[in-house]
Amino acid sequence: MKRFTTAVAALALGVGLLAGPSLSVAQDKGTIGIAMPTKSSARWISDGESMVAEFTKAGYATDLQYAEDDIPNQLAQIENMVTKGVDVLVIAAIDGTTLSNILETAHFAGIKTIAYDRLIRDSAYVDYYATFDNFKVGVQQATSLVGGLEERFGAGPWNVELFGGSPDDNNSYFFYNGAMSVLQPLIDSGDINIVSGQMGMDVVGTLRWDGAVAQARMDNLLSAHYTDAQVHGVLAPYDGLSIGILSSLKGVGYGSGDLPMPIVTGQDAELPSIKSIIAGEQYSTVFKDTRELAKVAVSMADALLQGGTPEINDTTTYDNGVKVIPSYLLEPVSVDITNYEEIVIGSGYHSAEDLQ
Ligand code: BGC
Repeated sequence: MKRFTTAVAALALGVGLLAGPSLSVAQDKGTIGIAMPTKSSARWISDGESMVAEFTKAGYATDLQYAEDDIPNQLAQIENMVTKGVDVLVIAAIDGTTLSNILETAHFAGIKTIAYDRLIRDSAYVDYYATFDNFKVGVQQATSLVGGLEERFGAGPWNVELFGGSPDDNNSYFFYNGAMSVLQPLIDSGDINIVSGQMGMDVVGTLRWDGAVAQARMDNLLSAHYTDAQVHGVLAPYDGLSIGILSSLKGVGYGSGDLPMPIVTGQDAELPSIKSIIAGEQYSTVFKDTRELAKVAVSMADALLQGGTPEINDTTTYDNGVKVIPSYLLEPVSVDITNYEEIVIGSGYHSAEDLQ
């Protein structure tokens, strides 16, 4: 570790600037390798920035890498961090099932691993997990969907379609199952009609959380099942999907004339989605304060490296296939037109100017 820090510090001095925007140096408590999935979604950019800021404040150097949703790329980045001898790995995995070998190598090199936001599966060498209450995220999405359906369309039955997250992301199942805990009883009672009949994560999942994939699936659903029927609601688990789904809906005339916009949910309180909520298009999102999650990861890593015990509040929920990972779960908050100012602007996550 020391040799790495010194070499990088020398390089930084030699060229008169830091060796790239993602590498912070000259801290002496250790180096943290931070592997994030992609910069294509603002939340991960915010996660990375917050972690670098907090780790730096706590006296650590950081090596922050984004893999643009490319699995081999993320694996290579993590291998590189292990070779360089980082002290702790903080990983938000692209595919939560593909890291077993490198985590084993890391473990035997004395490197601790914290799964960040997304559980890493099938490895005994995941030490801790920092995340949100992911089941509750799904409950909040479905609760908001049902509330919106009542508000906009009165009593049911309502025609609804379901979207899931990426099937290689463990979170997707928690979001979906949380949502179905609210929706299934209404489907059973006939209040909600899944017109396409498409249900289950194996059918409604959206690989790599890709908004274009969701948009294309919504186009197909509309042309195959809604030429004579009206869709009232769409369960969307992430803002990037919601925006694609909304484009598809608008493309066939929803949100204008006598076709009201269906209730579309989301997650992450991304800027385009908060703007869409203000414009009366997307109905809701779920705010997860990534600044707080970053702090949890930093305090876990700090405890691991300074001989303490990371604070956890869940020891039962997250079985990764090999063992239950001790976890710290933060609370998500459902956001819609009624509370976005208080929750999203009030917390400083977005500024009022950003939303102009
Ligand atoms: C995260 C969500 C995010 C999604 C897509 C999930 O693992 O928990 O916050 O919307 O990935 O990036």
